[in-house]
Amino acid sequence: MHCPFCRHPDSRVIDSRTSDDGLSIRRRRQCPECGGRFTTIETASLNVIKRSGVIEPFSREKVMSGVRKACQGRPVTEADLAVLAQTVEETVRQTGASQLDTNEIGLAILGPLRELDEVAYLRFASVYQAFDSLEDFESAIEQLRADHVRPAPSEAAGA
Ligand SMILES: [Zn+2]
Repeated sequence: MHCPFCRHPDSRVIDSRTSDDGLSIRRRRQCPECGGRFTTIETASLNVIKRSGVIEPFSREKVMSGVRKACQGRPVTEADLAVLAQTVEETVRQTGASQLDTNEIGLAILGPLRELDEVAYLRFASVYQAFDSLEDFESAIEQLRADHVRPAPSEAAGA
């Protein structure tokens, strides 16, 4: 890429390190023309195929806005949503796939959302898994109850 200071078309890598999660590489670069230093972050491209067939880059913001609707009126903060979106991105990137469909994203959202807020989880699951009867809700709630027998991490959060 061009130097952001003088637009020189070349740069030299002076340092390169992998992020803690192993999902991106930061490169410290120096322009041989003006000496300016800048950082680039390299991540594998990750695309989402929407139901309409449109392909767009994965976006944490899109994950957050999808989950935000399910969290209306619930004690869930924007910071919680940001952490959830980050978890989802890490989960889907760890599959090694470069292209996912919205179903796979939805699936990756269910786990962390359940940890965050069970009511929001039920709302999200009812839309995402297309619940169409009370029985669907009942079996999802039964599943939650069954898992309550062992202490869930969400209880530590004071929910
Ligand atoms: Zn330069």
